[in-house]
Amino acid sequence: MLSLQSFLDDLYDRYRDLNEGRLASYIPELAKADKGCFGISVVTTDGRCFEAGEVHQPFTIQSISKVFAYGLALEDHGRDELFEKVGVEPTGDPFNSLIRLDEDSKRPFNPMINAGAIATTSLIDGTDPTDKLNRLLAMFEGYLGHNVVIDMSTFMSERSTGHRNRAMAHLMLNFDMIGHDINSALDLYFQQCSVMVDCHDLATMAATLANQGVQPVTKVQAISGDYVRDLLSVMYTCGMYNRAGEWAYRVGIPAKSGVSGGIIAVVPGKAGIATFSPLIDANGNSIRGLRVFEELSQAYGLHLFDLSMGRCVFTKALE
Ligand code: GLU
Repeated sequence: MLSLQSFLDDLYDRYRDLNEGRLASYIPELAKADKGCFGISVVTTDGRCFEAGEVHQPFTIQSISKVFAYGLALEDHGRDELFEKVGVEPTGDPFNSLIRLDEDSKRPFNPMINAGAIATTSLIDGTDPTDKLNRLLAMFEGYLGHNVVIDMSTFMSERSTGHRNRAMAHLMLNFDMIGHDINSALDLYFQQCSVMVDCHDLATMAATLANQGVQPVTKVQAISGDYVRDLLSVMYTCGMYNRAGEWAYRVGIPAKSGVSGGIIAVVPGKAGIATFSPLIDANGNSIRGLRVFEELSQAYGLHLFDLSMGRCVFTKALE
C-alpha cells in the first residue's frame, strides 16, 4: 500500500482537474475565490502533518466556525442549559432554511444550521460586544495556536447582504427563541464566519478535537475535554448539510463543511483531516473534498463502524 503522504499526493493529482460545482455567490465576496485552489491536510494528535496541495491558501471559515462557537457556548452555559435553547436534531432541510422555526419547542433544531448557530452565538458570554468578540477570537486562537484575523470584506459583504439570516433572527425573536439584541448577535455570527484560516489550520483544529481538546502542538486546552463528545455528536449527525446521512453512511466520521469550501473531519484519538476546494455542490459541500474523504475512509478503514479493518491501517499509516 502507498504511504499516507503518497496517497494524499495521488489524491491531489487525480482530483485537481475535477472542476464540477460552483462557487458560493450569495455572499458576494465568496464568489471571488480561486476555483483551482485545492489542499488536503492531515494533522495527527501528536502534531505531525501529511499534506498535499495549497494548504496555506487563506479563506474564511464560514460554517465550520459553528462547531467551535457551540463549544464556547457549552463552556459558558453547560450541557443542560444549552440543550434547552438549541436542540441536537438533524432537520433534513437546507442550512439556511426558514421553515421549522415555528415550532412548539421554542428552540432551533441544532447548532449546525444557521438558525441554531445564530442562537448559539447569541449565548456567548461577555460584558459587551467587544468582550464577546475577544472571547470568541481567543477561543479560535486556542485551537489554531496563532493569532486570528477576521476578513473585513467578507464580514461587510455578509453583513450587508445577509437578509435571510436577519429574517431568521427576527423570527426567532418573535418566537422568544433568542434575546433581544439580535443585531449584536448577527454581527458576532458574521464575524465568526469571517475568521481567516487555511487548510492546515482546519486540520489542526480537527486534530485538537481528536485529542480531547488539547492543541497538538501548543498543548493548550482549547476546549474542556468533557464537551468534545458534544461537538463530535452534532458534527456526526448534522455537520454535512443535507448530505449528513450519506456522509455518515459512506465516510463515517464526524465532520463539518462550510460554503467557502472547507471540510474538517475528526478521527478520534488519531488525527484531524481537512480539505479545501471552493467548488461546492447544491448542498454546500466541496466536491473535491467529498471525493477525497470517501477515498481516505475506504482506504484506511476510517468509518467508525467498520470493525473489519479496525483503525489499525490508519494507525500504521500515521507511524
Ligand atoms: N456565513 C454563512 C451564512 O450564514 C455560512 C454558511 C455556511 O458556510 O454554511 O450563510
